[in-house]
Amino acid sequence: MIIDGKKIAQDLRERLKKEINQLSASSIKPGLAVILIGDDPASHIYVKNKEKYAKEIGINSKVLRFDTSIQEKNLIKEIHQLNNDKTFHGILVQLPLPSHINPKKIISEIIPAKDVDGFHPINVGNLSSGNESLVPCTPYGCYLLLKEIIPNFSGMHAVIIGRSNINGKPMAQLLLKEDCTVTITHSKTKNLKEICLTADILIAAAGKAKMVKADWVQKDCVVIDVGINRIEENGNKKIVGDVDFENIKEKVKAITPVPGGVGPMTISCLLNNTLTAYKKIVSN
Ligand code: NAD
Repeated sequence: MIIDGKKIAQDLRERLKKEINQLSASSIKPGLAVILIGDDPASHIYVKNKEKYAKEIGINSKVLRFDTSIQEKNLIKEIHQLNNDKTFHGILVQLPLPSHINPKKIISEIIPAKDVDGFHPINVGNLSSGNESLVPCTPYGCYLLLKEIIPNFSGMHAVIIGRSNINGKPMAQLLLKEDCTVTITHSKTKNLKEICLTADILIAAAGKAKMVKADWVQKDCVVIDVGINRIEENGNKKIVGDVDFENIKEKVKAITPVPGGVGPMTISCLLNNTLTAYKKIVSN
């Protein structure tokens, strides 16, 4: 089975749109502020899509664009202004940042209540402690895709390839919370293939094109491919995941394609986080 991330992401946006439409006409709309620095083409595409889908479902979205030369202290001032701005309930700083700006410092300046990327140490700590928190968008999207296929994860073995703060680690926390047995693997892991063969759920988030081969997975495995890798094949440029999709898709229980799997979920989960942040802020 191919998991249709595009459709599941669209359904989520429809639900969010309905909820936003039902807000009373007099109340302030949910607002998302995105900070974009420099001219990285991939970042520009991501931000354009975030803006487009936010508008589509009724979120008031604004992109603040800055030159690469912006100083860290001035960026922090902008964030402080957004922290105090009642029209924005979500703040997102598009990564990567120029090398003279420390992303950890910048993220920690966003108030946790508006940290819709879920990267602030307070949100990271709350997620790890099993408390209510804003959850990083990509792993949350993976979790929702898995839920479509497996209603109850209890006792299943989930193997995660990659231990980054934005993917592997929060993914592990979400699955632990659902009583999965979780193995996090990374670039120094030995016997990766053998570990993957024990997975009921396999999340690939290494950023290595087609590294997971057909003989790495067992037939009942549900495979979620987070990787986005730009490669050239037979003279054509294309985007592929971390999984050798063509050779695995017939073998496993379910798998996400790239593109059209996790990617669309990431944006829908960002919008979901923005609405969650909004509801919490306006109810306080
Ligand atoms: P990262 O570079 O921060 O982390 C990669 C992780 O993979 C590291 O923990 C590393 O140890 C591990 N790794 C690398 N090579 C490995 C190997 N050969 N075997 C086992 N583990 C290995 O990357 P990231 O930011 O977590 O992103 C990972 C991938 O996910 C990238 O392709 C990125 O483009 C993609 N991504 C997709 C989305 C989406 O919305 N679909 C969002 C974010 C990132």
